[in-house]
Amino acid sequence: MNSFTYERASNLEAAVREGARAGTYYLGAGTNLLDLMKGGVERPLRLIDVTRLPLAEIEELPDGGLRIGAMVTNADAASHPLVTSRYPLLSQALLSGASGQLRNMATTGGNLLQRTRCSYFYDTAFSACNKRRPGSGCAALEGYNRMHAILGASDKCIAVHPSDMAVALAALDATVRVSGPNGERAIPMRDFHRLPGDTPQQDTTLEHGELITSVDLPPSRFSKAYYLKLRDRASYAFALVSVAAALEMDGERIKAARVALGGVAHKPWRAMRSEEILAGSAIQDDSLRKAAAAAVEGAKGYRDNKFKIELAQRAIVRALRTAGGVA
Ligand SMILES: Cc1cc2nc3c(=O)[nH]c(=O)nc-3n(C[C@H](O)[C@H](O)[C@H](O)COP(=O)(O)OP(=O)(O)OC[C@H]3O[C@@H](n4cnc5c(N)ncnc54)[C@H](O)[C@@H]3O)c2cc1C
Repeated sequence: MNSFTYERASNLEAAVREGARAGTYYLGAGTNLLDLMKGGVERPLRLIDVTRLPLAEIEELPDGGLRIGAMVTNADAASHPLVTSRYPLLSQALLSGASGQLRNMATTGGNLLQRTRCSYFYDTAFSACNKRRPGSGCAALEGYNRMHAILGASDKCIAVHPSDMAVALAALDATVRVSGPNGERAIPMRDFHRLPGDTPQQDTTLEHGELITSVDLPPSRFSKAYYLKLRDRASYAFALVSVAAALEMDGERIKAARVALGGVAHKPWRAMRSEEILAGSAIQDDSLRKAAAAAVEGAKGYRDNKFKIELAQRAIVRALRTAGGVA
């Protein structure tokens, strides 16, 4: 591991001022960043520990929404009464991630910025990884790619984004609030993570030095919701495919639907066409299947992950049925 300096930020202004310096990384609980540093994947010159900043509150917003501070732990967010009662989808997604010990430490900001679990990214013995070494190639394209993307990938990178929380936040139309050298801004979740294109080294649209201060949720309108995570082990494993499904009902019909997928793309994947198909439909298999098929339009499988195209559709149908209370 390279040598680096460590400082603990005492206030937001100082954190952002120091964070703007070249080679500086913010440090949340370190459950991802420290692993990457130990493996030689990330090589910061300076760490600014932001965990003592006063950003660990969950508060109601004047419009009836909810603000989750960036330092709120995943465990605290998952069990907060306002989250469990109004946004059970988010609570379910959080509880499906990692382990109890990790959730007790991991922060909301750090969770959004955790990096892909592609093994070629993590293992520096592989020289080809455009995400780790831009221009070096993508070993996963011809390698073992069972966990990899089926949607929105490029010939430069087929890694997926690993956060469960982010999938629920995408479905719930959350906004990420950040503070940086150029002031504050709010980034809709759909624009926060990015597809790899020619620059897979950039996971998000954050500028260097921008600090996540909170995640804001609009007022809850989805009375029925379910987070389905399919993985190789029943717990403590990343998703092969996950589905965040949320339904606003008007009697027996769906008034509005939200469907987001995890484990299939470089970012949480909002299935907008599926949502359009579901609006106005009853919770019936033919409309659910049509919506599921629309979600994977244009999907492309690689040697080991073609099964995800069918799996994603079945998962969407099951998540929507479960959300809707249909056995
Ligand atoms: C064994 C294991 C299994 C896991 N399984 C799952 C799983 O199933 N599902 C899942 O979703 N996650 C899983 N995780 C990932 C875990 O959720 C993340 O490691 C954790 O959420 C990261 O949060 P952190 O506070 O530790 O971030 P850190 O490791 O401290 O930081 C991560 C990144 O975010 C940046 N950062 C941190 N806070 C801020 C901020 N406020 N503003 C700007 N930048 C910031 C850091 O610079 C760094 O680049 C697993 C992790 C492990 C180790």
